[in-house]
Amino acid sequence: MSDRKERAPCLICTLDFERDALTPFASLRTSLADFIAERHPDPAPETRGICRSCLDGERVDRLQQLLEDERGALTGVEREVAHKAALHQAIVDRVDDEDDERSFGQRLADNVASVGGSWPFVIGFGLVLVTWIVINSLLLRGGAFDPYPYILLNLMLSCLAAVQAPIIMMSQNRSTERDRAAAAKDYKVNLKAEIEVAMLHDKMDHVIRWQFQRLAALEQGQLDIMAELERLGQAKR
Ligand SMILES: [Zn+2]
Repeated sequence: MSDRKERAPCLICTLDFERDALTPFASLRTSLADFIAERHPDPAPETRGICRSCLDGERVDRLQQLLEDERGALTGVEREVAHKAALHQAIVDRVDDEDDERSFGQRLADNVASVGGSWPFVIGFGLVLVTWIVINSLLLRGGAFDPYPYILLNLMLSCLAAVQAPIIMMSQNRSTERDRAAAAKDYKVNLKAEIEVAMLHDKMDHVIRWQFQRLAALEQGQLDIMAELERLGQAKR
């Protein structure tokens, strides 16, 4: 059997995997490695590997624990965001998915509210009132269908107001709901960005530390070579 096909158990779930499919414990960032070592004690973790799904699970758990340390008990939203951030998933799939989901009644309420709250409507309605009054007081005189004090007009205005008020309230409730949903989405995206930045910091620290270690090892190697050359030189003399 070739080396590539060699199988080994996952450090966490202990299931057998091909070596290639396991992430070596030694290559993990120190903070994550410490977290895993604490939860899954092993005599020699550096020689072991971790399968993909276990590693994802540990990442999520660690991130949630970090957030809990910082904020106290997590809300459902924070838990969801930490989960998605740890797995590098997008928070918002569709930005503007609201309009397509409006029912006929909701669309009607929105349209009535937007027409009723516009200057053309106010001006047009004022013109209708004036026309009504002019027709009944000046033009028709004796044969007016709604003589002063315009009781029919009053009735119609009352009915219109009674219907319009709840429609406008419906539309306002919907726009409040929309705002709240947008704010919740913003909060999630901001929280995820914050988590991602913290993770990047962590990653940078890990890279820098790793580079320093390598540099130190190289330097030590060079020093060893120089010492060896010097020793050879002295031996020749
Ligand atoms: Zn596993």
